[in-house]
Amino acid sequence: MDRALTGLTFAELTDALGSRTRALAARKWLFGTRPLPQVLPARVEGVAAERWSALRERSPLPAWEPAGRREDPDGTTKIALRLGQATVETVLIPADGRSTVCVSSQAGCTRHCRFCATATLGFQRQLTAAEIVLQYAIARAEAPDDRPARNVVFMGMGEPFDNLDEVLRAVNVLTGEAAPGLGHQHVTVSTSGVLPEMKRFLATSRAQLALSLNATTDEQRERLMPHNRTWPIASLLGALREDAAGGSGRRYFVEYVLWRDVNDTDEDARRLAALLADLPAHVNLIPHNAFEGNPLVPPAPERVLAFQKIVHDAGVRCLIRWPRGRDIAAACGQLALVSSNNGYS
Ligand code: SAH
Repeated sequence: MDRALTGLTFAELTDALGSRTRALAARKWLFGTRPLPQVLPARVEGVAAERWSALRERSPLPAWEPAGRREDPDGTTKIALRLGQATVETVLIPADGRSTVCVSSQAGCTRHCRFCATATLGFQRQLTAAEIVLQYAIARAEAPDDRPARNVVFMGMGEPFDNLDEVLRAVNVLTGEAAPGLGHQHVTVSTSGVLPEMKRFLATSRAQLALSLNATTDEQRERLMPHNRTWPIASLLGALREDAAGGSGRRYFVEYVLWRDVNDTDEDARRLAALLADLPAHVNLIPHNAFEGNPLVPPAPERVLAFQKIVHDAGVRCLIRWPRGRDIAAACGQLALVSSNNGYS
């Protein structure tokens, strides 16, 4: 089957349209049209009519429908999209001078992290590269003019490294030549630690990696993230060390969700710093975002600050990601629209 338009690399698009100039015009349309229509128009400026209509036949947009939209008072916007039978969520997060788009890589998720709302949905299906890039195009069209969507994080629903081929293709479309032309340093793929595919990603992509570590001992991590039994902490950090030793020049984002009385002690903080001591790592501390039916709770803010101080004083860069979009259940780990109608009006 032919690929949908948003999943074509620039080389493939050039091939299909017979010239770079037309391919550039098509990309400009795709990432410059506000709002993005559900169906491709009959004509696009700068592309010969017969070329465009042939492309439109073979490579339409992926089937999509808006399925809900909610805006938090802090500006974070959660967009639900129906993609065939599946519904996924994409989050637009405006910041100073730029916006970040958080995309989903699967409908549901293949992993079973005990703290994540998406896991409660089970796995529905893989998203195609075209559906991943489509999420970016739709969200980008909603970004405020003075805060263009220049960053993409693969931190929505799903485990990107259980769908790596499509994720790599999407990264390629986002960062390749022509619009949207994002920098590799502005695209971050986040994993719960699927080791073989994490290694493949590090070896083949120049995009950034975030590892959701979330614990400092295997015993603790296994309880939270069952696949840690297969790929324990030392093996994951070992792969990062190897990548660093190979001269990749990368820094690694390490996500650490904090739960009260689970992984938030001074000892945890010291162990975390020790684990990362010889790595160019940036820790992002994320106080847990609660959701219905889940017993975990975030620590008090003072505990989060104390934890950060210990990690920081041990010489490891460490930022706190205070939740955004919590009012609309768009914060990390809260994407689970399908089962619950999750706050859409
Ligand atoms: N599967 C990938 C990407 C999706 S999760 C991964 O695990 O990295 C994106 C981030 O949200 C991860 O760092 C995850 O640990 C975090 N997260 C999941 N559930 C959360 C919750 N309830 N509260 C706060 N962060 C959560």
